[in-house]
This record gives sequence, C-alpha cells and structure tokens, in this order.
Amino acid sequence: MRLGVLDGDGGRRLVEVRDGSARELDFDGDLTDLLAAGIDPAATARRGERRLDPAALQAPVRPGKIVAIGLNYHQHAAESGVEAPTAPLIFAKFPSSVVGPTADIVVDRRLTQSVDWEVELGVVVGRRMRDVPAERALEHVFGYTVVNDVSARDAQSGDGQWVRAKSMDTFCPVGPVVVGADEIADPQALRLWTSVNGEVMQDASTSDMIFGVAELLAYCSRNFTLEPGDLLITGTPWGVGVVRRPPVTLQAGDVVETGIDGIGALANRVVDLPG
Ligand code: ZN
Repeated sequence: MRLGVLDGDGGRRLVEVRDGSARELDFDGDLTDLLAAGIDPAATARRGERRLDPAALQAPVRPGKIVAIGLNYHQHAAESGVEAPTAPLIFAKFPSSVVGPTADIVVDRRLTQSVDWEVELGVVVGRRMRDVPAERALEHVFGYTVVNDVSARDAQSGDGQWVRAKSMDTFCPVGPVVVGADEIADPQALRLWTSVNGEVMQDASTSDMIFGVAELLAYCSRNFTLEPGDLLITGTPWGVGVVRRPPVTLQAGDVVETGIDGIGALANRVVDLPG
C-alpha cells in the first residue's frame, strides 16, 4: 500500500495512491493521526476516488521527532575522510523542517552559503518501540519513504554539532508517499539516487549501510522510546556536494531530485529567501 496526504476540504486527507489515482481513506486525519490511533489502514474503508495530481501531495508524515544517522554508508565515510563509526552516530533534525515532495527548498543566505543534498531512506515507525532487539525491530516499521536531509555545510562544520545546519525551515523534503513495509522485501537492497538539474550526483544501494535499519532501530530504542509516526533517516551514501572537487553547492533555480527505487522521488526547486 502506498499512502500519501492531500490537502482537502476541512483539512489534510489520507489517501491510497494507486495507478495515478487517489482513494481517500474513511478516516478523519492524516497518516500520523492514524498511526497514533493504532488503526490499520488496510482495514479502513475507502470513500471516493479521483485522479491524483502528484504536485498536490504533501509530506506524508508529521513526525513527532526525526532521528537522523550520520556517516552510515561505507563509501560516504570514506569520501568524508573519516573512519566508519563503531556505533550509530545519532543527531536530531527538528520536525519543523519538513516539507512536501515538490515544495521549494528556501535558503536564507544570511545563514548559509553552502547548501547540500543527502538522499536517505526514511523509516516510519508504526508501533511504539522501547528496547526492542534487532530481530524484532522491523515488525515495528510501518513503512518507508524518501527523505532529502538538506544540510547547511558551513553551519554544520562551524557549530560543533549539527542540529541548526540540518533543521532550517524547508530542509527536510519527505515523500512522495509512504510505502508499506510489506511491499519492501529487503530495506537493505534499495537503490537510492540524487540528481541536480538532471545530473546524477548520488547513485548507490542501501546495502552499503554500516548499520542496517533493524540495527539502527534497536540501538535507538535502547536509548529512547520511538513513537508511532516518528521518522528515522538512515544516512546518505557517497556523492554529496561538499566533498566534490571542486565542491558543489545548491543555488537558486536548481532542481534537486532524490529518489529510491520502489518508493518514488522528490523534486524540489531551490529558491533564495528574498531580502
Ligand atoms: Zn543525513
């Protein structure tokens, strides 16, 4: 099942996306509300079907928290010139940075001159997790989505920690849908990629992760509770702009596309905040 969120009369509407159409679920709320209520979308009735305008899709989740993982791909650690971490490197990205799959990435040039892309596999938690072992962790996943962990590299390196650089408004495009975990046979065998103005920048597989999804969830849930609707973003593969020679940074007018085979793709235009 592929679930998305549309703005409709009276608020956000949860829809199943299939064959270019959107079927609204008979539920008064969005996916985050549904997960919090513990309702199975497969068992929820549909009411009405319409043609889907992909540009109308909103971010499919409003996570209570975004747990992000740094340096979690072998080839990305190598290109960054650092040793592979011996334990998952966790940082926070504020949920207020989330925008939809075709929203603009709005850059405040007073804050950063060095904006970069990071395609990542997003994991949507379906059931509360506290100290769940890796062998049981994937049972708690509702589904998977695409996330661009947009990063202000100058702020990231200057601050000593990363939360500001990762949390600027609009720096977290998510979507276009959440694909149910039952449709992803192996989260460690997904191709993920980035292109900027059509030029491929990242093209890798989640098989290159240092810590896999189950291990990350187990580690996180050993340290803090994961709630339904929380979003785990699992690190980016090789090919970010900051390590290119010469470095590449996103400029106003650029269109950055990030995608994962079997899930979908985001397409976000970069604009500078006026003034
Ligand atoms: Zn990242």
